Amino acid sequence: MSVERVDTLVIGAGQAGVAMSEHLGKSGVPHLVLERARIAERWRSWRWDSLVANGPAWHDRFPGMTFRGIDPDAFAGKESVADYFVDYAEMIGAPIRCGVEVTSVAALNGRPGFRAETSSGVIEAERVVVATGPFQRPIIPPLVPETAGLLQIHSTGYRNPDQLPPVDSNGGAVLVVGAGSSGAQIADELLRAGRRVFISVGPHGRPPRAYRGRDYCWWLGVLGKWDLTTPPAGAEHVTIAVSGAYGGNTVDFRRLAAHGMTLVGRAESCKDGVMRFAPDLAANIAQGDRDYLAVLDEADAYVTRNGLDLPPEPEAREILADPPCVTDPILALNLKEQGITTIIWATGFALDYSWLKFDLLDGQGKPRHSRGISEVPGLYFVGLPWLSRRGSSFIYGVWHDARFIADQIAIQRGYLAYRPSAPDKAAAK
Ligand SMILES: Cc1cc2nc3c(=O)[nH]c(=O)nc-3n(C[C@H](O)[C@H](O)[C@H](O)COP(=O)(O)OP(=O)(O)OC[C@H]3O[C@@H](n4cnc5c(N)ncnc54)[C@H](O)[C@@H]3O)c2cc1C
Repeated sequence: MSVERVDTLVIGAGQAGVAMSEHLGKSGVPHLVLERARIAERWRSWRWDSLVANGPAWHDRFPGMTFRGIDPDAFAGKESVADYFVDYAEMIGAPIRCGVEVTSVAALNGRPGFRAETSSGVIEAERVVVATGPFQRPIIPPLVPETAGLLQIHSTGYRNPDQLPPVDSNGGAVLVVGAGSSGAQIADELLRAGRRVFISVGPHGRPPRAYRGRDYCWWLGVLGKWDLTTPPAGAEHVTIAVSGAYGGNTVDFRRLAAHGMTLVGRAESCKDGVMRFAPDLAANIAQGDRDYLAVLDEADAYVTRNGLDLPPEPEAREILADPPCVTDPILALNLKEQGITTIIWATGFALDYSWLKFDLLDGQGKPRHSRGISEVPGLYFVGLPWLSRRGSSFIYGVWHDARFIADQIAIQRGYLAYRPSAPDKAAAK
């Protein structure tokens, strides 16, 4: 069987793979990007129909190209985001081969480099960059048995309200578990579509969409938050609820409750059709408020410190009263009696590196690395959460991480290309 050889193999052509290709190309590193589906596939087929980017178009993009036909302050739809990366790949002439899955990567025997088994043959590479995404395998906690007689889907499987069992005498109500950006947005969409909606709210941050005339992405930038290198203490497992939907509004669970949504605490168990929730709803809502108000405080301090002329916005500090579902929380729900016929699990993702034949994962299945440089010489990662900083898994941040990795690859290639200028002298010693 013939073996194809490349210098650097990049696996995955989402935004991370495209960014990697741009920087490898600029550094003169011959490379090939393999993508098992299409460029930016996860933006196309793992996200719901109405999803728009969480950041405005001026921000959620690479430096080299703006969004075509989208107001810079608007939020691009998910297809536009995918199209953007297709156009970007074309602009930079990225050598991307779509429809090829990498099924295993192992070290070569007796010489440096890697052997990648793919759905279309074997490739040997000097170096491998893994760009297979920060969110690889949907997690559904095993709380509700499959035999419970209702539809259970992960947020990656949700498309639109019409896909769910209808509102009829059996119910049609929906329980959304998880109140990060996905859970909050999906629950809001379902409520607007006339569904009865319950949402299980765990610990979360809910930053303002905008404050004093500037989007949250701008505030994160000027306050240096995108560049934090480790999560703030205690916030490691706190999800962020932010949304660009409907033109962009701050996620406010009390407002959703005022419009008819029922809030419950963290989902804990389910037995005999009765789902139980932790008595932590009020605490989680209060934590969200603290996070929200802390951003306003830091923004105000920044404005004062720098003498900026940004319009004050005191009304942003007005917090609605707690709704009855917060003051008198529901700790158990009989799913059938409540007419709940769908559970949407917006409960996040795990990594899956079972196809990487190296001992490089920590106890949580995350690769051990430093800024994406793994413990295996020549093997790199890009696009992972907090790879180097907070922005690492986002469009804005991955481009900068990819530049660093490409630099490291170029540096290593430089060493390997070195030959002593006077080999005879060296040999004569
Ligand atoms: C609902 C949602 C909304 C988001 N919204 C935003 C946002 O608005 N702004 C923002 O900056 N970030 C956002 N993110 C975060 C992040 O930008 C996305 O997760 C983005 O898809 C990550 O890009 P990536 O290239 O790192 O990974 P992915 O997009 O996951 O791309 C990885 C690619 O690798 C391919 N692949 C995987 N395994 C193999 C294999 N073995 N062989 C070949 N190919 C393989 C996949 O098909 C995929 O195309 C969002 C995330 C989610 C889940």
